[in-house]
Amino acid sequence: MTVDPEYSPEELARMDKQFIWHPFTQMADWLVDEPLIIAAGQGSYLEDVHGRRYLDGVSSLWVTVHGHQQADIDRAIAEQLSCIGHSTALGLSNVPAIKLAKKLLEVAPRNLAKVFYSDNGSTAVEVSLKMAFQFWKQGPEPRLAKTRFICFVNGYHGDTIGSVSVGGIDTFHKLYKPLLFRSIKVHSPYCYRCHLGKEYPECQMSCLAEVEAAMSNHHEQVAAVIIEPLIQGAGGMITFPPGYTRRVRELAARYDILFIADEVATGFGRSGALFACLLEGIEPDFLALAKGISGGYLPLAATLTTQEVFDAFCGAYEKQKTFFHGHTYTANPLACAAGLASLGVFESEDTLGKMPGKITFLGDGLQSFWGLKHVGDIRQLGFMVGIELVLDRDGKKPYPYETRTGILVVEEARRRGLIMRPLGDVIVLMPPLSISQDELGKVLEITYASIKVVTER
Ligand code: PMP
Repeated sequence: MTVDPEYSPEELARMDKQFIWHPFTQMADWLVDEPLIIAAGQGSYLEDVHGRRYLDGVSSLWVTVHGHQQADIDRAIAEQLSCIGHSTALGLSNVPAIKLAKKLLEVAPRNLAKVFYSDNGSTAVEVSLKMAFQFWKQGPEPRLAKTRFICFVNGYHGDTIGSVSVGGIDTFHKLYKPLLFRSIKVHSPYCYRCHLGKEYPECQMSCLAEVEAAMSNHHEQVAAVIIEPLIQGAGGMITFPPGYTRRVRELAARYDILFIADEVATGFGRSGALFACLLEGIEPDFLALAKGISGGYLPLAATLTTQEVFDAFCGAYEKQKTFFHGHTYTANPLACAAGLASLGVFESEDTLGKMPGKITFLGDGLQSFWGLKHVGDIRQLGFMVGIELVLDRDGKKPYPYETRTGILVVEEARRRGLIMRPLGDVIVLMPPLSISQDELGKVLEITYASIKVVTER
């Protein structure tokens, strides 16, 4: 166990409270509670500074793919470290970045031809937005009025101003409205709370009419549509009916609107396929990747795009068609080496081949949760699960915000040895793909008990 040689766990806790401001955290609460400080990890487990072990139920915020301390990835980073830790991608290249780009394009939807690196999900999205915007300025047939974006209610694409501008979660985004560019927002199919009051499949996805109307009314001003394919993650693990995303893709093509697939959350196996787009045979114009791209080890992101988009940025130097964008740690060699090793593990461990059995086990296990009277909805795509808790199941009435029900469930689970993080009152499960069936059983058992204890006391 790695206890710090310099500071005791108590000193670390005190220093954390004194010096750190945690993201998406009400710090007034944090200062009261005992902070959980992670010191180590192995496989599906995390270990804190006191030596207590916890199952990592959300893959350290949706990033860990093959578990913690995966030997091949550890080795690849160490080997790369013996060569160089970082050199810039602005004007130079590096070996792992080249090899990873080649590999990514081999496994991504086939129409994609170029990899633009950055270092987190928000930047991968910003890059796709700026590229789409610039494409219409200087492409083979410039369309200067195409400057706007269509996006979805309950969509989430990151926390930078551009990505918030195409976000659709009021709790996070409303406050910043005066800072944002104006996007065209359409409803996504949140079937549990259908805004049209309809039922799937009888509705025949009639909500697509709003998407089509936005496209047909505004296509002359719209550069691109951005969507999280098949499932909106941070919006509450909102799964789309099969074929919905594909229809949006088809509509975008029909109206000359570029299609941005944000697979920051779904990418690298979470959906059961390497990319969710592959499940519906979708070829996006942009594919935004981050989180699991480095196996969950290091900050890395990539925006993949087509030869056609790339070509629009090539020209005589003085024409200034260059993509004037680049982050300092873009294509970091250590992160790229980790990414390459992670894709290697997908092959050597047949990670995706082992998933269907575990996905079925997870889905079967979740069936018993319908017996809990405050479980309103259970949604699953592969290894992404959302359990929506409600005060009143018949009326689908949410808990009042101040009851902190989701947080209470997660705190209870932690006492029982499982780390989770809720999205409001949606309890999220997103374990590492490498988790064993036994461990998955334990995740389900603790989650069930925690929901029961908190909502039925
Ligand atoms: N897009 C999606 C779909 C995401 O889920 C997230 C993060 N949860 C982001 C973008 C932003 O990624 P990051 O936090 O790395 O900026």
